Amino acid sequence: MDLPEPTLVTRALRQGISNDTQHGAVVPPWYPSTNFAFPVIGEEPDYAYSRSGNPTRDLFGQALATLEKGAGTVITSSGMSAATLAIMAFVPAAGRVVAAHDLYGGTWRLLDRLGADGKLQVDWVDLSDPDAARAALSTPADLVWVETPSNPLLRITDIAAVAELGHAAGAVVLADNTFCSPLLQQPLTLGADVVLHSTTKFINGHSDVIGGALVAGTDELAEQLDWWANTTGVAGSSFDAWLQLRGLRTLDVRLRMHEANARAVVALLVDHPAVARVHYPGLPDHPGHDIATRQQHGFGSLVSFDLAGGRAAADAMCHGLDWFVLAESLGGVESLIVHPSSMTHGAMSDDAKQLAGIGEGLLRLSIGIEQTSDLVADLTAGLDRAAATTV
Ligand SMILES: *Cc1c(COP(=O)(O)O)cnc(C)c1O
Repeated sequence: MDLPEPTLVTRALRQGISNDTQHGAVVPPWYPSTNFAFPVIGEEPDYAYSRSGNPTRDLFGQALATLEKGAGTVITSSGMSAATLAIMAFVPAAGRVVAAHDLYGGTWRLLDRLGADGKLQVDWVDLSDPDAARAALSTPADLVWVETPSNPLLRITDIAAVAELGHAAGAVVLADNTFCSPLLQQPLTLGADVVLHSTTKFINGHSDVIGGALVAGTDELAEQLDWWANTTGVAGSSFDAWLQLRGLRTLDVRLRMHEANARAVVALLVDHPAVARVHYPGLPDHPGHDIATRQQHGFGSLVSFDLAGGRAAADAMCHGLDWFVLAESLGGVESLIVHPSSMTHGAMSDDAKQLAGIGEGLLRLSIGIEQTSDLVADLTAGLDRAAATTV
């Protein structure tokens, strides 16, 4: 009997397994070589020089293209080098970028500086607001930069609607899919042209490699990105690709545990008197809940919440936790907590923070895959400490 077509998950997680024709290694070998031999003069081998192409890096890139349903992937040294590459490739001199007002801080800094230097024009828009998106994209643009769910408030943008507006404005539409990973959301299938990942986060999943990727929806865009990647030299190292491919193999099972833990934590937060508000797209009263239900295959494991007691409560909660490490980044197997106002979003002005809704009592969790009961116990103790500051 013929087996059914393999699922994308199985294909991507088995990427390169048993492909070694020399020794039959089960796990694909790592090719650190910088250069590869030409068979004869005038005949280009598949790989010539590792900045432009490397077999190990390609295995990882193909796995991401499979999961995102894309035509090709450029693997870069970090999420930010992927962002730099996208701007190089898609924004002409003094071109116009329409970007979400609550983008990842590093992306915000890059676009803001290029704008200040007159290299491009950037308009910051709340793309989760359909009227604001329509108004901004009623004039021509070169690049639209979407990030959904957003950080740290988990705002949801309708990718299909913004992609349509972006295309009508003549723009390439890029979606930063770092928070969801391709297993929870596939922006190319919703109309985006290019997907960006900080593979540092869920894709590698173990907080031990910095990496990035751009997945292109068409061959033409993939070739364009390949050309720019080779020309600028932003490609990721072959060993980092090898490590990240190993991380990717457990993405599906990790995400299931991440999300189960997130559900338990959200249930705790919504009922605790120390908490004024919970931001999680899985909650029916979250403003983006319906869109998230439609465009995501799960609600993920990032949760933020406002403590009623402000900064004093945040200090009491964060100091004394056993399992939640007070640290930036996200998407690793270990649980983390951040105080966005002083940490991840510390560079924002007070006005910008207020506009984005980032208060002194806001905390963001990246919920890991430890045993659920341990995480709930740790947070319950922390919330009780936070509540005690307000009596
Ligand atoms: C971390 C992150 C980036 C930047 O990626 P690096 O790998 O740190 O360079 C970009 N976008 C989002 C949403 C991120 O979380």
